Amino acid sequence: MTKSPIIEIAHVDKWYGDFHALKDVSLSVAEGERIVIAGPSGSGKSTLIRCINRLEAHDKGRIAVDGIELTEDLKRIDEVRREVGMVFQQFNLFPHMTVLENCTLAPIWVRKQPQEEAEATAMRFLERVRIPEQALKYPGQLSGGQQQRVAIARALCMNPKIMLFDEPTSALDPEMIKEVLDVMVGLANDGMTMICVTHEMGFAREVADRVVFMDQGEIVEEAPPAEFFTSPKSERTKAFLAQIL
Ligand code: ADP
Ligand code: MG
Repeated sequence: MTKSPIIEIAHVDKWYGDFHALKDVSLSVAEGERIVIAGPSGSGKSTLIRCINRLEAHDKGRIAVDGIELTEDLKRIDEVRREVGMVFQQFNLFPHMTVLENCTLAPIWVRKQPQEEAEATAMRFLERVRIPEQALKYPGQLSGGQQQRVAIARALCMNPKIMLFDEPTSALDPEMIKEVLDVMVGLANDGMTMICVTHEMGFAREVADRVVFMDQGEIVEEAPPAEFFTSPKSERTKAFLAQIL
């Protein structure tokens, strides 16, 4: 029996005013699959990621997450957001809250978890991203790499089925990139369904089941990394790879 995909994106279009940001984009992601999205700046990668948890609304086509259709229905959108963890380039931690408070805020207020339980869960994930000793510090006291690991722990505290990463290492100094990628590799090895927008092609080679290449709002091609990096089909993909590899 083939399992139905956990994320279904079919013939999606998105406009910002009269700018056509996504053009007939279709992508199916199976549970446990790891997708890397690559492509030049402005190609629509963030827009696509943001449409999956409705931070942006698509204009045409359909998106379904774990069987829930993304429509105007706010209750359904909330359901989807609880299943989807999101990590951004700029961490987006609350600066006036401790690391622990950042991690327990949504579990307490959205999931209605008792504080003690939420804190125990948060400590477990802070251990998993290897910074339990920072729990009582404020984000401003941490390095960029540490802050991004808090952001990942915070997302995991909501017990998501899917994790979306939008250039999670692009704001980091080189020596911190590896510590964040290591955490992401660990998640991938644990079977988390992941979509990662990243320029880290070593990461793509190591963990991606498929690399999706976007350009000018379109998915130009997608292939397993072995094929994507050695025999890209499109001239646009070849030109992109020649630039970044
Ligand atoms: P990427 O993440 O691949 O760099 P984005 O999805 O952020 O690309 O953006 C795709 C295109 O859409 C870009 O040309 C960008 O300027 C435009 N765009 C993104 N967000 C908005 C917005 N809120 N309003 C208008 N244009 C936008
Ligand atoms: Mg982007």
